[in-house]
Amino acid sequence: MSLNIKIDADLCTGCGICIRFCPKDVLESSEELNRYDNHLTKVARVEDCIVCRRCELYCPDFAISVEEEE
Ligand code: SF4
Ligand code: SF4
Repeated sequence: MSLNIKIDADLCTGCGICIRFCPKDVLESSEELNRYDNHLTKVARVEDCIVCRRCELYCPDFAISVEEEE
């Protein structure tokens, strides 16, 4: 089983809500800008993710998803 945390570059506003709510410090802000000049959030420590899905729940723009893959 592996985890794939996807952040949609066109939807992410860089608001940082997912970063603040993640209990395991998996996510962080990156230097990368999307086409709206927002700093994208990136997955920094996927191995620490506990699949609590708080990031999905609290993202106001439905930009992040946590997928478990076989
Ligand atoms: S599922 Fe939970 S632990 Fe994993 S990145 Fe999202 S908030 Fe963090
Ligand atoms: S909560 Fe959603 S929109 Fe905000 S930084 Fe995280 S993924 Fe991007």
